[in-house]
Amino acid sequence: MTLHVPFDNTYAALPDRFFTRQAPEPVGTPRLIRFNTALAEELGIEPGTPDEMARVFSGNEIPQGATPLAQAYAGHQFGGFSPQLGDGRAILLGEVVDRAGRRRDIQLKGAGRTPYSRMGDGRAWLGPVLREYVLSEAMHALGIPTTRALVAVATGDPVYREQGALPGAVLTRVAASHIRVGTFEFFAARRDLDALKALYAYTRDRHYPEAGDPGELLEAVIDRQAALVADWMSIGFIHGVMNTDNTTLSGETIDYGPAAYMDAYHPVTVYSSIDRYGRYAFDNQAQIIAWNLAQLASALVPLMPDQDDAIQVFTRMIHAMPTRVEGERRRRFRAKLGLATHQGGDTALIDDLLKLMQDHGADFTNTFRGLADGSARDQFTDTAAFDAWEPRWKARIADEADPDGLMRRTNPAFIPRNHRVEQMIAAATRGDYAPFERLLDVLSRPFDDQPDAADLRLPPEPHEEVKQTFCGT
Ligand code: AMP
Ligand code: MG
Repeated sequence: MTLHVPFDNTYAALPDRFFTRQAPEPVGTPRLIRFNTALAEELGIEPGTPDEMARVFSGNEIPQGATPLAQAYAGHQFGGFSPQLGDGRAILLGEVVDRAGRRRDIQLKGAGRTPYSRMGDGRAWLGPVLREYVLSEAMHALGIPTTRALVAVATGDPVYREQGALPGAVLTRVAASHIRVGTFEFFAARRDLDALKALYAYTRDRHYPEAGDPGELLEAVIDRQAALVADWMSIGFIHGVMNTDNTTLSGETIDYGPAAYMDAYHPVTVYSSIDRYGRYAFDNQAQIIAWNLAQLASALVPLMPDQDDAIQVFTRMIHAMPTRVEGERRRRFRAKLGLATHQGGDTALIDDLLKLMQDHGADFTNTFRGLADGSARDQFTDTAAFDAWEPRWKARIADEADPDGLMRRTNPAFIPRNHRVEQMIAAATRGDYAPFERLLDVLSRPFDDQPDAADLRLPPEPHEEVKQTFCGT
């Protein structure tokens, strides 16, 4: 058995200032934690022995055909511009064209220092690696565009964080690409028009071959990102760090640093420890994605023949975006109530339920899942309010062909609950990977009733509640 990755690299052929060629820094004693066999199959990767995979996916051995590099990018972080970010702890090994003909990046995260590391050590510890593994694979199983997790490897080396010495790990991430809004900002801020043109052409060819000009590319990205944010909101997901360097051109979810799913519904929920003003709160995500794409629009303006005209057109597109997200969000919440058709009054039905959930601290996931099996009422401390809402909804779904089926396909029974993720990390840190494997298994079928996993549907007990999450450094 020999590991084989059918590399076919294109990013490495872009001009030098797009990246720095950089090999991963070797680690002490790499050990394979998990290899995603189904994803490898999809990518046409032939697995090797556990030792061989541990060596390659820790960065100790460069596989045949790889062109390791760290990508350059900039970004607005919490609204402030950093002209020079880049892969400070990630190395792009290269790309493969998967069995469906899609080009995918294969990137090591936590693979050591690069010229973009600034003060960082280029490493990741086990907690954020397993967290991203579980959250990204769960997102995929929920049917939402996301980067994927291919491999987790323990490095055998300690990583030093506030908590002290922690076990080091490397995640191999697979993405449609790692082109970010911040990649465009990097060259726009330098007024490097040639590089911007090359990046535009590369992005168009890779993601939006139908786009006739940068305006059409912007339109297409707006479409995908509006759908993505609406998808997140439909499952109670809070990205937590929607900086422009964490907003992809492909429309995939990326960067699971402080990401979290809500337990009790409240629209201004924030978990991230560094998001002091709630910039990236649950309900603010539609506004923020528009703000982020305004940065992309600004970066694209210099590529347009008539820049004054482009500014006007792009401004209109950006201003229309929150309404667009709201439309997508409503459509998804109608489906969550079992409504495949649209009638006047549907929005009020949705909003009234959400308001009740907010007032009663009802669990987001269990309330929606409970609509189909009659247990939604149990999520409310004061059932009278729910009992007043329910007949309106019952009367409305009487007009629908298969509301139960639709609700079971749109309201997951299982999400990666924060407290379970934290418990899983604590166990893995002690060397017990059983909770990690169990979460992955259950979350791979989130819409199935899995009676054996009923405990994973429970909201946290007060002492289990996770109040804050941290950027995965
Ligand atoms: P993130 O918070 O993961 O989106 O990262 C923001 C920036 O900080 C990116 O340029 C990262 O590469 C960099 N960064 C984050 N953690 C580290 C680390 N441990 N070492 C070096 N750079 C890092
Ligand atoms: Mg990031």
